Amino acid sequence: MTTAAIVGSGPNGLAAAVTLAAAGLQVTVYEANERIGGGTRSSELTLPGLVHDECSGFHPLGIDTPFSRSVDLAGHGLRYLWPEVQYSNPLDSTGRGGVAFRSVVETADKLSDNRWSRIFGPMAANFAEISEEILQPIVGVPERPLSLARFGARAALPAAALAKVLSTPESKALWAGVAAHAFRPFSSPFSSSIGMALASAGHTHGWPVAEGGSKSITDAMASIVRSHGGRIETGRMIASLAELESPTIVMLDTSPRAAVSIAGAKMAERVAKAYRSYRHGPAAFKMDFAVEGGVPWLHPASRRAGTVHLGGTYEEISTAEKEVCAGRMPERPFVLVGQQYLADPDRSHNNVHPVYSYAHVPAGYTGDATDAIIAQFERFAPGFRDRVLATHVRSAPDMARYNANYIGGDIVTGANDPRQLVFRPYRTLNPYETGIDGVYICSAATPPGAGAHGMCGYNAAKEALAAIGM
Ligand SMILES: Cc1cc2nc3c(=O)[nH]c(=O)nc-3n(C[C@H](O)[C@H](O)[C@H](O)COP(=O)(O)OP(=O)(O)OC[C@H]3O[C@@H](n4cnc5c(N)ncnc54)[C@H](O)[C@@H]3O)c2cc1C
Repeated sequence: MTTAAIVGSGPNGLAAAVTLAAAGLQVTVYEANERIGGGTRSSELTLPGLVHDECSGFHPLGIDTPFSRSVDLAGHGLRYLWPEVQYSNPLDSTGRGGVAFRSVVETADKLSDNRWSRIFGPMAANFAEISEEILQPIVGVPERPLSLARFGARAALPAAALAKVLSTPESKALWAGVAAHAFRPFSSPFSSSIGMALASAGHTHGWPVAEGGSKSITDAMASIVRSHGGRIETGRMIASLAELESPTIVMLDTSPRAAVSIAGAKMAERVAKAYRSYRHGPAAFKMDFAVEGGVPWLHPASRRAGTVHLGGTYEEISTAEKEVCAGRMPERPFVLVGQQYLADPDRSHNNVHPVYSYAHVPAGYTGDATDAIIAQFERFAPGFRDRVLATHVRSAPDMARYNANYIGGDIVTGANDPRQLVFRPYRTLNPYETGIDGVYICSAATPPGAGAHGMCGYNAAKEALAAIGM
């Protein structure tokens, strides 16, 4: 029987495992952690009964993909839930702010800026086609060149250039919050790309959460793997290909650097050198809270928003991102807040709610960002601190210890610089191939990059199957 070994059980490793198992291969997944899921684990981090997402929280790019359509994730327990407001950006202490709804027209209306719909309306209307292209390696021949070209023309711009087109402080700040997901200075080319994808997806699919926590995404994948007779071994850190039982196919859901050390001398020096030069980006400092009565936002719409971007005006967020990318900790960092419980109330216990947050911090930042994070909450929600019953903190070095793929605390497995947005993990037409027969890399260090969509694993598995004529 044809066999496959998957190293790592993040969404990409498991999507590869699902795809190979469904094709009839005997699959074994090896996971270093005691729990499966990589960046999709959820647990009671603060108080009993409160379900926190440990990493990924919102899934605008994961709900309608070639992978999600190829498997019955819903039949294995995955259900998405939507908050009323998709994301928001409080602006100042007067209670003003920007708000994103699923409707682009309603969003532009609330922002008093019809330029928002001029930018994102056509992208949202075409998002089904656009996403088929951007969820593949961009180096291939596009099947929908026009849609990709229209998207690419905007995505290639610095985020600062798009901000200039927008006309109100609310819309500029809203854009800053979504653009900051790229972890890039807003002046750099292509720094619009991630924000453009997330905002357009938001007006198509919303920014949903997984019922019961993001762990439901990989629990559903693991259930499918097992339903095909596949095995998952946890607590197994794989250090070398020699530890695997000579499978036909190996999928590495790892960082490129780890792939070099696992493959050892089998990897051509040219590839090993390219993998070692793969660049990682800034880090995240995660802080979860148990909050009695929820966050007392001054900006009313933020009380209904799944995601709240904290950082204030466009200019403030832009400055914070520039500092972080230059390796300096800003006094007021960009903080992403998750209120998943608004869409999924069973994550709370009575009137105590799990509130998720992380600040962007410099790569490898060893300092303590807890005061800076709480200060950002207090700025837009005075009295927040008094409602906190318990906290859980994971610093940048803790992140790297928690998951070997988060080098220096880089939660998106690689810098989103122009070269790596197009060519990851290095400049090649076959991004999943390691150059070793049957051995592939399938983590978020490959196209289409970060996110709990599983598309890197799915694409890599398809390529592996094609290589053995399946
Ligand atoms: C704080 C945070 C917030 C995020 N927010 C979002 C969000 O809202 N939406 C979204 O879509 N994405 C989000 N992400 C990103 C998303 O979680 C990742 O991009 C995604 O999980 C990447 O999947 P992956 O399978 O490539 O790797 P991972 O999920 O990182 O999984 C890799 C797995 O491989 C295991 N592993 C590594 N090396 C070995 C080895 N040698 N042997 C055995 N096992 C090994 C690791 O333990 C890990 O379990 C967030 C991430 C973080 C940390």
